[in-house]
Amino acid sequence: MRKPIIAGNWKMNKLLSDAKGFVADVKNNVPSSDSVDAIICAPYPFLYELVKETEGTDLKVAAQNMHYEESGAYTGEVSPAVLKDLGVTHVVLGHSERREMFNETDETVNKKAHAAFNYGLLPIVCVGETLEQREANQTMDLVAAQVKKALDGLTEAQVKETVIAYEPIWAIGTGKTATSEQANEVCTHVRKTVAEAVSADAADAVRIQYGGSVKPANIDELLQQSDIDGALVGGASLEADSFLKLVEAG
Ligand code: 13P
Repeated sequence: MRKPIIAGNWKMNKLLSDAKGFVADVKNNVPSSDSVDAIICAPYPFLYELVKETEGTDLKVAAQNMHYEESGAYTGEVSPAVLKDLGVTHVVLGHSERREMFNETDETVNKKAHAAFNYGLLPIVCVGETLEQREANQTMDLVAAQVKKALDGLTEAQVKETVIAYEPIWAIGTGKTATSEQANEVCTHVRKTVAEAVSADAADAVRIQYGGSVKPANIDELLQQSDIDGALVGGASLEADSFLKLVEAG
């Protein structure tokens, strides 16, 4: 049985004071991490404070991106060594906004996935198609290719610990959720891809999230699907009440 994993991706929202207020409201109210992983993916400058504020609680803190090198002349970048040192547990890799606006590619996502494991961070790897690609019936091939390239060269044990977030780009921030059947169909295909590329055991263990206009009103139905193990949530993760409802559904 795979443990549900609910992650709130704040993207480029909030000020530090709001972020601390949110965490103060939420950190002692999330269910035990024995039953669900509850994670906030915060902007870099908040990470140090939020990790300190959540110490000893069941709320975990993730970064939204990182570089794959340990250190060096990469102005403006943040290394996996720094994230680990801060006490961050997870890192989102290859979000569609980074692929579309910041030149993230399957190759860099793969390098970052290796770097994450080398530094003891767990990657949440995002995949998903545009509306154009869906309408051209390319979804399954595209998502399978993204998954294979992201996981390339990882050990079976590492793949088992990886989280894959299926986020159809047309459903992000649009209010258009994929139907739970549409979402599950792709998540099932992701698991099949992992089985073929790695092993049946890895496919059975890997956790797959759906993301795209998830909210308290639709999360139950999504989580009831056979291959959806959690959610990566943008807008509906910004308010404490809403985030708690999502986590409680997990
Ligand atoms: P929304 O939940 O706002 O659609 O965002 C989804 C997302 O991109 C999470 O990473």
